[in-house]
Parts: sequence; structure tokens; C-alpha cells
Amino acid sequence: MGRNPRSTVIALNWPYRLPDELASGTCASGKYPPDWWFPRSGDALGRERAQHMCRSCPALAACRAYVDACDSELRGIWAATTREEREQQRLAKGRERRRAARKAGDAA
Ligand code: SF4
Repeated sequence: MGRNPRSTVIALNWPYRLPDELASGTCASGKYPPDWWFPRSGDALGRERAQHMCRSCPALAACRAYVDACDSELRGIWAATTREEREQQRLAKGRERRRAARKAGDAA
């Protein structure tokens, strides 16, 4: 199977788009191919490998904070989450915020 050209291009730029606090991340260590964090759609083994690497990453907490604060859509695996999982989390947080706002409005 050939490489996904898009993930290769992103992977080549990978070290330059990492925020400083993630420089100690496993994906930035140079020990593993950066495109491991950009598995092809449907590549469950590739996705699981990247998520597994993230879970033991020394920069996981900083990465999670970065992802939470990031307002642009990130491709690939970040902080052991897929793009779809991050979208689900974002939607759940939005629902929670609206629920809390309604509750606060009811209490006033
Ligand atoms: S948690 Fe994953 S994506 Fe984030 S810095 Fe570590 S290895 Fe990279």
C-alpha cells in the first residue's frame, strides 16, 4: 500500500507546527515516523498505535490542554484522540455549557 500523500506533506511539516510545550512529545522525538500520527481513514491499527504512543507521552497533559484551547481543526491523532473524538468532545462541552447557562438562568 502506498503512502497517503497528504499525510506525508503534513508529516514533513510536523516539527514546525508543534507548539513549544509539546517539544518533549513522543511524536516530536524523532524516534518514530511522524506520519504515524496521521493514520489513513479506516486504518484502525495505525490509529490505535498512535493513541497508544500518546497515552505514554510525557507531554500528554500539555497536548490535551493545547487541543482543548485550539480553535482550528487539527488533523490526525492529538492527545490520544482522533479528530472525530475531539469533535464529539467539543459538542459535549457545548451542550454542557448551554445546560449550565440554562440552569443559571432558571436560578436567577
Ligand atoms: S500526546 Fe501524542 S500528539 Fe501530543 S505530543 Fe504526545 S505523542 Fe504528540
